[in-house]
Amino acid sequence: MDKFNLHNILKNHPRAESLTIREKLVKGFKKGIVATAGLIAHGRGECFDYLLGEKTQPFAFEAEKVAVATLLLSSNPVISVNGNTAALCAREVVKLSKLVNAKVEVNLFYRSLKREKLIAKTLRRYGLSKVLGVGGKADKTIPSISSLRCKVDSEGIFSADTVLLAIEDGDRTSALRKAGKRVIAIDLNPFSRTAIWASITIVDNLVRALPNMIRFAEALRKKDRKDLEGIVESYNNDNMLKEAVRFINLRLKNLCKEKVFGWSICGEEFQRMFLEKEALSR
Ligand code: ATP
Repeated sequence: MDKFNLHNILKNHPRAESLTIREKLVKGFKKGIVATAGLIAHGRGECFDYLLGEKTQPFAFEAEKVAVATLLLSSNPVISVNGNTAALCAREVVKLSKLVNAKVEVNLFYRSLKREKLIAKTLRRYGLSKVLGVGGKADKTIPSISSLRCKVDSEGIFSADTVLLAIEDGDRTSALRKAGKRVIAIDLNPFSRTAIWASITIVDNLVRALPNMIRFAEALRKKDRKDLEGIVESYNNDNMLKEAVRFINLRLKNLCKEKVFGWSICGEEFQRMFLEKEALSR
């Protein structure tokens, strides 16, 4: 059996998953899909993913379910796609959009027709027939956003009631809220302005959040509106963010109490490494 995965990463490397994500972004960067700043934004995300244990924690799972119910209840939901999202999860974006009946719009901080077209092509490869926001289709403006991200599609974000976005900055998130949109944000950093401004913040890695949301969508799309409203009703985003920070806080405290620092953070592979390290120091 091949020891390497599709991205040339050793399958049993303790950080294989994280390295694979990096490799996808580097490939996306080389193709012109990911912007230089997108690579840096990913680094900030990775740091928070460490703190979260690189797993979907219960508060994120709950937010993912509420987000899907919200998308299903919306009359014009739109998924906003930037370079990092396209490089990491184009297939999942397309699948989710079909399940919740959402439109998909390209929206970039570093906008160029070439990048827009490349991202649209990536999305089409996974079966999306209509991609909004490309070139002259972005014919409207969201006020108070500096940079070309203010350009939106009249059929898409401009008239959307709910916008799902990921790996986004606070200026755009707050401008969308001020324009009357419900914003669902996937952001690993619970302290970011995006996390604080969003209506629903999913503190999870995009690569875990979207597959979870797809599973929720498959289950929830059969429910009637009343059931969906029941899911959304009791959700409180402030409490969810506090829960995320409480989790990080507790996790760090518990780590400091461990006999061997790092023991519980790491998987089997690392635990073998600790035993080796211990044997050396004897
Ligand atoms: P804000 O302006 O909202 O305070 P920021 O300045 O950190 O945030 P960016 O630099 O644009 O905004 O960063 C984008 C955000 O995306 C960061 O908070 C980062 O933690 C998050 N992020 C990066 N990669 C991922 C990922 N794969 N999944 C989820 N979130 C991610």
